[in-house]
Amino acid sequence: MIFDIDLDKFKRSLGLRELFLKTILPLKYPIILNIEPTNRCNLSCTFCPRKISKRKLADIQWIDFEKIAQEAADNGPIYKIFLQKDGEPLLHPKIVEMVQCLKSLNSARNVTIISNGTLLNGDLFTSLAKAGLNDIIISVDAVDARSYSELKGRDCYHTVKKNLEEAARIKNISGFKGPRIKARMVERKGHEIEKEVFSQIWSGIADSVDITPFHTWMNSVEDQRTYTSSIERYPCSLLWYTGIINADLSVSPCCIDYNCAGVIGSLEHSNFYSVWNGREFNNLRRNHLFSEYSNTRICGSCQYWLIKENLGKWFRRKYRIQKASGR
Ligand code: SF4
Repeated sequence: MIFDIDLDKFKRSLGLRELFLKTILPLKYPIILNIEPTNRCNLSCTFCPRKISKRKLADIQWIDFEKIAQEAADNGPIYKIFLQKDGEPLLHPKIVEMVQCLKSLNSARNVTIISNGTLLNGDLFTSLAKAGLNDIIISVDAVDARSYSELKGRDCYHTVKKNLEEAARIKNISGFKGPRIKARMVERKGHEIEKEVFSQIWSGIADSVDITPFHTWMNSVEDQRTYTSSIERYPCSLLWYTGIINADLSVSPCCIDYNCAGVIGSLEHSNFYSVWNGREFNNLRRNHLFSEYSNTRICGSCQYWLIKENLGKWFRRKYRIQKASGR
């Protein structure tokens, strides 16, 4: 089923999540964690800011990954762990072991990989399924080989399609319950018509089709958003329920911190619990509650908050903040 990105509609669909969040926030540990296996990637998408990122390439070390998985288990199981941030997770040589580790420790109820699908051959899919992966989201983004090459920098459309067809076939014949396979497309201005085509192509192959809103990575790539909004800015709810661990163990406030310019801590000599409840993270939340976005390292130029729940009034009531300064 296709998800139509009319932003107002999209936000209304978050109503239930808002209600749920109001029953659990604030949290001593996030319910969603992104752990980045690697920031290496084998594609070069035009709408991805990796090419201007100054980050050093790194794979997360196994010993560190195990510690993070154990900490999530000790504070969980949390709701979801995404194995992905800036790179292609299937490039990490231990990606299957990572899923196995998270599942065997019961770190999260749901373990999801977001991948470009180029390396997802039948053997790897089978190993991930046996490891207990719950969801795999494949960023396809294009509707044919030509547009794929233009958009993603490599001629891999047919490889990805073949890989997903094979994954679906394996799932059918093996009786694996998971992972659910989602085909994803970022909706871009001027390409709205492709949504229907994309849905037709993938609805017979993937378990679901996901059309996701475009954002500019803090004005780092050309603006191709299909939505606008004049709504007054509100605090970014992500800061209260998601945590991001980069492959080099730095902690970012959110997944769009592609350059790690917003890093608020590190797990090198600490654990995630301490960073999440630490002064720097709380100062960032405070800046949002007081509308002091320009006092933050990366949030000032961000539009991604628009896509997330508006819990601003509720937060301010909860924290007894009379009036945001509006800076
Ligand atoms: S406002 Fe933007 S940059 Fe800041 S935490 Fe939210 S999504 Fe990240």
